[in-house]
Amino acid sequence: MYRLCLIGLATASLVSAQAPTPSTGVRYGRLLIRNAHIVDGTGNPARGPMDIYIDGSTITRIAPARLGEESRFFGDTGAVRAPDHTIDATGMYVVPGIIDMHAHIQFSRADKSMPRDYVYKLWLGHGITTVREPGSGEGIDTTVAHARLSAENRISAPTIIPYATAGANSPEEARAQVRRLKQKGAAGLKVFINRPDVWQAIASEAKTLGLPIATDMKIQEMDALDAARLGVRSIEHWYGIPDAAITGPQDFPDDYSYDDELDRFRWAGDLWRQTDSARLSAVLDSMLAHDVTWDPTFAIYEANRDLARARTQPWFKDYGLPQVLANFEPDLTRHGSYHLDWTTADEVRWRENYRIWMRWVREYAARGGNVTVGSDAGFIYQLYGFTTIREMEMHQEAGFHPLEVFRHATMNGAKALGLTKTGVLRPGFEADLAIVDGNPLHNLKTMYGTGIEVVENGKLVRRGGVKYTIKDGIVFDAPALLADVREMVKAARTHTTAP
Ligand SMILES: [Zn+2]
Repeated sequence: MYRLCLIGLATASLVSAQAPTPSTGVRYGRLLIRNAHIVDGTGNPARGPMDIYIDGSTITRIAPARLGEESRFFGDTGAVRAPDHTIDATGMYVVPGIIDMHAHIQFSRADKSMPRDYVYKLWLGHGITTVREPGSGEGIDTTVAHARLSAENRISAPTIIPYATAGANSPEEARAQVRRLKQKGAAGLKVFINRPDVWQAIASEAKTLGLPIATDMKIQEMDALDAARLGVRSIEHWYGIPDAAITGPQDFPDDYSYDDELDRFRWAGDLWRQTDSARLSAVLDSMLAHDVTWDPTFAIYEANRDLARARTQPWFKDYGLPQVLANFEPDLTRHGSYHLDWTTADEVRWRENYRIWMRWVREYAARGGNVTVGSDAGFIYQLYGFTTIREMEMHQEAGFHPLEVFRHATMNGAKALGLTKTGVLRPGFEADLAIVDGNPLHNLKTMYGTGIEVVENGKLVRRGGVKYTIKDGIVFDAPALLADVREMVKAARTHTTAP
């Protein structure tokens, strides 16, 4: 298994990792999913009804549904065998497991710890089977240990691809650090340091060791052109791209301070407007030439264009732990909690910012650039799992067809991560998939854990949500995981209000 190889180098002791509760996922020998419509993740149109045959952790066959007839597995020797377990997916859609390219593992918020499977269960509950962990505050030892626990089905969690944050005070220190992180089991690096000499040292050492780099460039001396030349695998958010397409620095107001979170996020909202289109076009061509993935993470900034919406999302009530919600509230000592004096003008500016940004992401994809889905949840009013689906909605808003949106969220993520056996529903590929109650191409909101309201027999009923998330052939009951989360939230609220 390539994934086990990936984390086989882990030196972190499992004893030191405080594990969440044991996995509730079950891997059957021969699993049959009957009568499903499928979206294969490549951008091909939906097909169905189909039967999907899974042997252990691998999809072995996808064939037109044999209704009224026994479906059978065919072994290597030609022996015909019945399935060990069957899921009736009549009226449902099967999509590849979602790959969230920017998913932070967090075990505490606002200085209060949270149950260690809260984030994992929200992810699995939304059909997310793989996360790239872009540098966790919990540390690389913990994320590597949890990646292993997940791969061994000892915890209920998606496949975790642990990246580690790299950055040091000198090139020599940086090289040693990169070697140490590789030894600890990091599968890649997240870099945002503002030091070109250190950047270069990290990039060259990473190249030697075969570690891909994801960068959140923020505002710094280097820009997307430099990053592309250094061989960076993915650019997170947008930073560095418009920066490479303006003459000189951004036109900041004269009292701007980069260390003021309100200033930083307010004026980021004016950056795209200041770019030169011809230059931007050339920047995209360079990114394309160096095969850079653009992981735009639209949703994490949505509060900036509509604060009231972000602050009152309906799932907060049942799925938001008090410390997670408290962490979102304005407090300039925390990263990303800056909405004090957030004005009409700020929202108007950000709406325009989004329009230009989305246009260029669409343009990048049109030229053949790899565009992916990442959430960055846990900050700025964005809740784990739900935000990944919101991100997909915003890709549709950017002008992508829902089939393309699914490709961004599945096949393109796998490509960016170098995973050659996931992200597509295809025989020979890993059984990473989600079974959705309804048609997510008709309405992406079908994917939300809270479901959607539809009219059936003249009555409003609640449908939708992911019914099963299957990771590496391991079947998780998604509604049961979300019920666990609701219990965690209920318990935390009771606890918080007790005398
Ligand atoms: Zn992040």
